[in-house]
Amino acid sequence: RAKDAGGSRYELADPDSDARAIDRHSLTTRLPAALEWDEFFLEYQPLIRMSDGHVEGAEALVRWKHPVHGRLGPDRFIPLAEHTGLIVPLGRWVMEQAVRQACAWHEERGKGGGNGKKKNGKNGDALAERPLRVNVNLSPRQLHHPDLVPDTIAVLEAAGMPPSSLCLEVTESALIGADEDELKPLRQLAELGVEIALDDFGTGYSNLANLRRLPATTLKLDRSFTQGLQQHPADPVDVTFVEGIVTLAHALGLAVTVEGVETEHQAAQLRDMGCDTAQGWYYARPGPASTFVQGFAVT
Ligand code: C2E
Ligand code: MG
Ligand code: MG
Ligand code: MG
Repeated sequence: RAKDAGGSRYELADPDSDARAIDRHSLTTRLPAALEWDEFFLEYQPLIRMSDGHVEGAEALVRWKHPVHGRLGPDRFIPLAEHTGLIVPLGRWVMEQAVRQACAWHEERGKGGGNGKKKNGKNGDALAERPLRVNVNLSPRQLHHPDLVPDTIAVLEAAGMPPSSLCLEVTESALIGADEDELKPLRQLAELGVEIALDDFGTGYSNLANLRRLPATTLKLDRSFTQGLQQHPADPVDVTFVEGIVTLAHALGLAVTVEGVETEHQAAQLRDMGCDTAQGWYYARPGPASTFVQGFAVT
């Protein structure tokens, strides 16, 4: 066996990658049971209107409470679920939970919880108040699934929520090269009033001229640009880029959301640059729906 030593050494050279492969395999095979046994849960991160600091809504972010490995973030398992197709039922579950949660926040507010201030108009009917919006991430596989439109409509109807209280986030890379047929489901949803955000904007190789053609209502600028602003002085290329994108987006009738705002300094700069909505640790980390209500939505 001494002759094999070289080969064995070679195999052992990267034990981590082996462990990761096994890990991926065991995580993948466990996914369906995890969905069945309710091991997934959602956290919510507030979306803040920059002009006045009001909470407009929240992004739902899925996590997995794994019985052995503990809490796993979406980067660990969403790509696996996307690969096997489990993302379709998982994504449907996420949307259902998130829309139900938005509905619960809405009712909570309607009760006049918190400071009891009535800021609604007309007949003093609190339910007339615009519901908090909930943002849900869609993976490419969901985007191309024939049930996307009927499922989304069914979820909204079951909760009695107006379509505009749901925002679907799709990455620009998922839409690159999409032809008119492939855009049709999103376009249909947008026509119903569902908001569509282009997530991680600026990281793909997007054709800016293509933007006009997409049924998006919001651009979500990727965190990497926000990070560039944190340096002193701010990276001039990032400054120019953000300002340019904001101008272009507004000209096309799109709102701009910025992700990954971690400091007051970044927040102030991004507000001055005309960004509409912000999300990031400076305002709040993702957390359970209950803290969201106590800390933001009701007051
Ligand atoms: P994303 O949609 O771009 O979500 C934003 C990510 O940035 C989240 O990571 C959030 O926790 C993180 N984040 C927010 N503010 C800050 C900040 O100030 N600083 C830093 N460093 N990070 C911040 P998370 O929760 O790990 O999610 C990662 C990605 O997983 C998401 O990126 C999204 O692409 C995907 N994902 C999450 N939930 C779902 C889901 O239900 N379905 C699908 N298809 N994808 C999901
Ligand atoms: Mg997102
Ligand atoms: Mg994003
Ligand atoms: Mg991202």
